[in-house]
Amino acid sequence: MTAPGRTVLVVNSGSSSLKCQLIDPDSGASLADGTVERIGEDSALAGMTVGDREARRDGPAIADHEAALRTAFDLLDEAGASLDTVNLVAVGHRAVHGGRSFYEPTPVTDELIAKMRELAPLAPLHNPPSVLGMEVARKLLPDLPHIAVFDTGFFHDLPAAAATYAIDRTVSEKWHIRRYGFHGTSHKYVSEQAAVFLDAPLTSLNQIVLHLGNGASASAIAGGRPVDTSMGLTPLEGLVMGTRPGDVDAGIILYLSRTAKMSVDEIDEMLNRRSGVFGLGGEIDFRELREQIESGDAAAQLAYDVYIHRLRKYIGAYMALLGRTDVIVFTAGVGENDVNVRRDAMTGLGGLGIELDEQLNAGPAKTARRISADGSPTTVLVMPTNEELAIARDCVAVLAAG
Ligand code: ADP
Repeated sequence: MTAPGRTVLVVNSGSSSLKCQLIDPDSGASLADGTVERIGEDSALAGMTVGDREARRDGPAIADHEAALRTAFDLLDEAGASLDTVNLVAVGHRAVHGGRSFYEPTPVTDELIAKMRELAPLAPLHNPPSVLGMEVARKLLPDLPHIAVFDTGFFHDLPAAAATYAIDRTVSEKWHIRRYGFHGTSHKYVSEQAAVFLDAPLTSLNQIVLHLGNGASASAIAGGRPVDTSMGLTPLEGLVMGTRPGDVDAGIILYLSRTAKMSVDEIDEMLNRRSGVFGLGGEIDFRELREQIESGDAAAQLAYDVYIHRLRKYIGAYMALLGRTDVIVFTAGVGENDVNVRRDAMTGLGGLGIELDEQLNAGPAKTARRISADGSPTTVLVMPTNEELAIARDCVAVLAAG
């Protein structure tokens, strides 16, 4: 491994997994990438890749997040990227919900951690493990600056008309209910990269970004500023996702509570874990969903059709909000890889100025590329997201600002 100028360790801490990436923020290179999975279970999976070297420790239990991070550091040593050799200048933490208080990349302090704990009810699945990641990383790397980068940050300035729910104002003010939006780091990064790719000023472009991974969200971005986004108070709203339904009639929740006598926790579990394409078609992963569709499974076909229907609805809505759409960008696991999803989302939209090039769409490339036909008024791009690099760059910007 050639010695980098400086690196940032980016930590993404989930409830049972911890992802680490070592990034050179100046060149954008990823020097090491690893995940510890099944934390707290009987046997864990841990791997770290540095160039063409991979160190693994699969099997032994890893009790908690501190042990997980220690394991990640050991694997970094084994794979040849020991932290004391890479001029580590900061640790960046993916933080999900910043509530109303946090939206800029923010140094992690005891106070920030305490406030993040208070925000846990807004993101019960995401904020507690993220705080845990910050605590253990600060313990193991106490001499480095730690910086939290919020998934909600980019959408802080959503216009009030987009951010506001039409419910009793006194209730939403008291409980801080608004559309916060998520995947902001990705929407911001991808829209900036689209401008670089097209060699056009960001301020001149109206874009729709479709971040389609396990979680999925759409945003309308005018001149680099978000105009609307599909996720809301929590990451449940909007597009159909792997296990989440996206938009549903809130009356469903009342009905299930009153008539089906489901508890709040049962409804929560159903909406977060047993809905979306999984709830309808029995598969989370779009590769497996495709296999089911091809084997003639009607439930899988319906799950896919519902997913595409919602996606097209959001594209149309955001085109209306933007007035003129220069670019539509597909990103994340499904958006970058699933030829069928992109084709079915974009077919028949010639009247709206969108002409896909079937061959370009079917091309296997992993890199940024145009998939719209020459002369299509709206350019359609596939753009790999890189939230870790965006977090690393936010960290060095915070350091530079002093
Ligand atoms: P996350 O939201 O967990 O970050 P990703 O953006 O990594 O998710 O997306 C993961 C999803 O991407 C998988 O569940 C799968 O549905 C989809 N995916 C990954 N690779 C492919 C592929 N080659 N073809 C179709 N779908 C894919």
